[in-house]
Amino acid sequence: MVHAPARPPAGAPPVRINLYSDTQTRPTAAMKDAMFRAEVGDEQHGDDPTVHALCDRMAALMGKEAAIFLPSGTMCNVVAILTHCGKGDEVVAHETAHILFSEGGAHAAFTGVQIMPLKGAGGMFTADDVRAAIRPKTRYTPPQRLLEVEQTANIGGGKVWPLAQLNAVAAVAHGEGWATHMDGARLMNACVAAGVAPKDMVASYDSVWLDFTKGLGAPLGAVLCGSSDFIGAAWRWKQRLGGSMRQAGICAAACLHALDHHVDRLAEDHANAKALARGLRQIEGLVVEEPETNLVFFDVKGAGCDVPTLQRRLAMQGVAVSGLGGRVRACTHLDVTAPMIEEAIGLIRAALHG
Ligand SMILES: *Cc1c(COP(=O)(O)O)cnc(C)c1O
Repeated sequence: MVHAPARPPAGAPPVRINLYSDTQTRPTAAMKDAMFRAEVGDEQHGDDPTVHALCDRMAALMGKEAAIFLPSGTMCNVVAILTHCGKGDEVVAHETAHILFSEGGAHAAFTGVQIMPLKGAGGMFTADDVRAAIRPKTRYTPPQRLLEVEQTANIGGGKVWPLAQLNAVAAVAHGEGWATHMDGARLMNACVAAGVAPKDMVASYDSVWLDFTKGLGAPLGAVLCGSSDFIGAAWRWKQRLGGSMRQAGICAAACLHALDHHVDRLAEDHANAKALARGLRQIEGLVVEEPETNLVFFDVKGAGCDVPTLQRRLAMQGVAVSGLGGRVRACTHLDVTAPMIEEAIGLIRAALHG
């Protein structure tokens, strides 16, 4: 039996305030218009001009030689690890990494790597932690090939890796001859929050991808960037996994639109997240982590509640939140406005204290 995500309880009204995830954004009318007008071709055959435009733009933005369009962020991680590593190799990552938690065991099933989980607050680790993870190179030890980081760290609380720390952990990895990979599902949130240009943020990483279906608000697609050789090899895995597409320019057009219109506005999502955290802190019993980007995590145990109960009560009021790692996660995005945040605070207070 495979468990599906929880459905709203019977009798719940439609969701009005959707703090469940930034993946639930709907394409705007202007984005749909850009998709409608997209010039397209056979992407698999290398003939889709809009996909080429997106990949060229992303390679330039990330300061890498080349890029490849893939249907999802998960496929970016799988393709990147298949390209960097062989079966039995080891990837060093944080213990809360998406590749460990949320990819359905893809790396055991397809890539055949083992993942060494590192500890550390906020989904991050230090250069010393990486040094401590280096194994002796003997016939007994798994060959270590890749260091993986998440910017922002999702289960870590949407925290932003400081640039110096990203560079420091990458330097240890490169010193050992490992490659470095960044899961940049919410990379633009990190860049906007820190005021760092994407190509500076990812300069120490051999591969990096950006998801267009999180705060950027596109219906599907993610772009993986790296050297020309790396992307050439990634194309074979894309083809093998069935990730090569046809008139994918319709989706690439949405991604280009998002780059033009939905990046700077992420600052509004971060301000809304801070306002939500401020309001929630006024509610007795809640322990609220200070958000750095668009994810607000809070613990409801001190308010005499548990996550599913709060979710059920809020669902009856048309509010959706998610549960992650025993905490509630509320996520701001382009379909969440400042008045909705004020309303959500009141509804959460009422759901907890009647
Ligand atoms: C969402 C997410 C992914 C996977 O992206 P999909 O497009 O949902 O496959 C990977 N890593 C992190 C940190 C994410 O938040």
